[in-house]
Amino acid sequence: MAIYLCHEQPDLSEHDAVVTDGRPGAVVLSRSAFHPGGGGQVGDLGVIEFDGGSIAVTHVEVEGDRWWHVLADPGAIVDGDVHVRVDAEHRLRVASLHTMSHVLNALVFDEFEGSLVTGAQINGDGTGRMDFDLTAIDNDRLRALEAPVNDVIARALIVEPVYVDADEAAATPGLIRSLSVAPPPTDDGRLRLIDIDGLDRQACGGTHLANTAQSRPFKIGKIENKGKHNRRIRFAFAD
Ligand SMILES: [Zn+2]
Repeated sequence: MAIYLCHEQPDLSEHDAVVTDGRPGAVVLSRSAFHPGGGGQVGDLGVIEFDGGSIAVTHVEVEGDRWWHVLADPGAIVDGDVHVRVDAEHRLRVASLHTMSHVLNALVFDEFEGSLVTGAQINGDGTGRMDFDLTAIDNDRLRALEAPVNDVIARALIVEPVYVDADEAAATPGLIRSLSVAPPPTDDGRLRLIDIDGLDRQACGGTHLANTAQSRPFKIGKIENKGKHNRRIRFAFAD
């Protein structure tokens, strides 16, 4: 599998690389700190600098082990040694809201007897949504979760990845709630879990904060009924 540098070195926002494959408008790199996105989480943005210029990367297309970094100019040819810069502000915005979606998920799971996530989306503009399998619950009770989410931010809980045996994880109820980004098992069959100290443990391959206090204040927006069993909670940063 491709190496997720963004998991191994989450603070790495720029590095050298070599183009290992190319076509007009896209390149595969020898290494990449980009998160490709997936499962509703938007991927990283950034630029690739090369001899004679630089070009924006609009998104990453995953083709097995090969990550095609799609360039802003569909005709651009980039080759040789390059320097990769990931947009750290975009990464932080997405990782913050995505981490808060874990918190919201944990609170809903606890308060409404194990209700599962049926969909999630984290956008680049600081907005997102989660869909939960919930029936007959007053929307005001869901809206009231905004305060406990902000309380978790204030408590500055440590967020860190832990790796467990994938088979063991599959047998542990609640660990895989189809939350979000498809978690890539490692080559030796381990699964990546995101542990929020004392609050939640969830299989996930996305990008996260290292501490909940890094997040801006959280705000719950519109809550919609999507069919009989689905509730959609929209959220954003409060400031
Ligand atoms: Zn996650």
